Amino acid sequence: MENRSALRPLYLKDFTGQEKVKKILEIALSSAKKRQATLDHILFYGPPGTGKTTLATIIANEMEKNIKIVSAPMIEKKGDLVALINSLQEGDILFVDEIHRLSKQIEETIYSAMEDFRIDIVSGGGLRARNFSINLPKFTLIGATTRLNLLSSPFRSRFGIICRLELYSVEELIEIARKNTIKLNIKLTEEALFEIAKCSRGTPRILNQLLKRVRDFAVVHNWEVVDREKSLHILKELGIDENGLDSMDRKILQVIYEVFKGGPVGLNALSLALNEDKDTIENVHEPFLVKMGFIIRTSRGRKITNLGLKAIGKSLNSELF
Ligand code: ADP
Repeated sequence: MENRSALRPLYLKDFTGQEKVKKILEIALSSAKKRQATLDHILFYGPPGTGKTTLATIIANEMEKNIKIVSAPMIEKKGDLVALINSLQEGDILFVDEIHRLSKQIEETIYSAMEDFRIDIVSGGGLRARNFSINLPKFTLIGATTRLNLLSSPFRSRFGIICRLELYSVEELIEIARKNTIKLNIKLTEEALFEIAKCSRGTPRILNQLLKRVRDFAVVHNWEVVDREKSLHILKELGIDENGLDSMDRKILQVIYEVFKGGPVGLNALSLALNEDKDTIENVHEPFLVKMGFIIRTSRGRKITNLGLKAIGKSLNSELF
């Protein structure tokens, strides 16, 4: 079976892009190692598939520590949290994905675990109630979220390092693709690499998914080398247009144009009209549409731009941007 994490870089030097984040991490890692101290708690935020989990595993490798990866909804009770942290060795990393989804009670419990490596427990009720605290190993919490705004400020302030991950440039994606074509044992021409990178929505996860589909086509058709024409054919088969837009991206642009006369339109109205979850629109589709200059976000909602109109084959409208 194919190892799902086979395409994941293992050390910071192999991680392409996010230069600012890497610089901050390099210093923090070197300092912690030199002081033989536990690394500060870290919060990563940014669009899905941009490397938050990958960076957490890299940090564990660099620190030569173990990492435990969980998703916030898996931690339901105080006991779950205690058991989780207690299973760690000193200096190990607890990675909590979708950290904005922790319940209020767990969030408050985590405060003392982060600050004092201790959790207070009340056992029994009424007159028999007894307070005691459990000491925990000194661990590093790495949280990841696509929704920084949903994290309370007391929670945010308990992370020593907060890093925002950005969408990747086409050049950075080409660099990642070059490394991964070797791992996937496929050959793409420079032009094909460019087309695939351009259509990856600034996201390494999507790039990797596309490269795997390219591999499938190459294997099935016995293609030794995938050139531009072949890559465009594959993209078309996958329903991805020359800008890298998928069917939902195009639907968003069409609905803003046709139903809301180009906007501005609020997220609620857009979500109802598209019958799509607000979170998905805001965090999966919009960052890329904004990066491409196809929509702009104003205080009154999103508006389609002339570039956006062009992307769905509509003519320019002088009233729009
Ligand atoms: P997130 O946690 O932000 O949703 P992941 O860390 O799971 O994203 O990354 C998704 C995929 O993209 C992983 O398979 C990883 O190998 C790849 N990836 C992400 N960032 C990079 C990068 N900078 N260089 C190479 N591969 C990357």
